[in-house]
Amino acid sequence: MHRIYDISVTVTAHMPVWPGDPPVELERVVKMEDGEDANVSRLRMSAHAGTHVDAPIHFVAGGSAIEELPIEALVGPAVVIGVPKEVGIIDVAVLQQAGLQPGVKRVLFKTRNSELWIRQQREFQEDFVAVAPDGAEWLVQHGVRLVGIDYLSVAPFTDPVPTHRILLQAGVVALEGIDLSHVEPGSYTLYCLPLKLGGSDGAPARAILVSDRE
Ligand SMILES: [Zn+2]
Repeated sequence: MHRIYDISVTVTAHMPVWPGDPPVELERVVKMEDGEDANVSRLRMSAHAGTHVDAPIHFVAGGSAIEELPIEALVGPAVVIGVPKEVGIIDVAVLQQAGLQPGVKRVLFKTRNSELWIRQQREFQEDFVAVAPDGAEWLVQHGVRLVGIDYLSVAPFTDPVPTHRILLQAGVVALEGIDLSHVEPGSYTLYCLPLKLGGSDGAPARAILVSDRE
């Protein structure tokens, strides 16, 4: 049996969201306890809350929307890179140290951010580990098609535009808000399926890793 790791965070009203984005509202609006035949909930949230995928149009004018992303980029072999805890930004130097094999198409960074999910930190953390613009250039040049990060943005809080633009302009998928706290660095198969929202700049996703080891 191959082991399956759910790297998605649970969507709740208490999850941290990007400052200025609407909070998540998940509310039961039809209730059996009120004599109705079924329970029905209503969901209101940013398309960029929790585990989610960015579409190019998020930062690139005229870019493609979430339902146009090639599913081939979202599913396939992936490598989880363990980023040392003292690293605050993933730049070229960190990537050169990471020992990424040539030809790797999907890279997920396990940083100290993942501990925030274990602690169920409700407040948004501005000092999360992200990819620097030169790191993004490096990933594009090395043919990476999907970059995953274990907090809500692939780009640093203080300067979110350049990293996003470099990746999204090159057609690299950004998978954000994954929880890698229970996943060891190594090789896996990624299945990342964002909701097929028409015209959206992002979409919540269920993402899982399947271990290559028996
Ligand atoms: Zn996003």
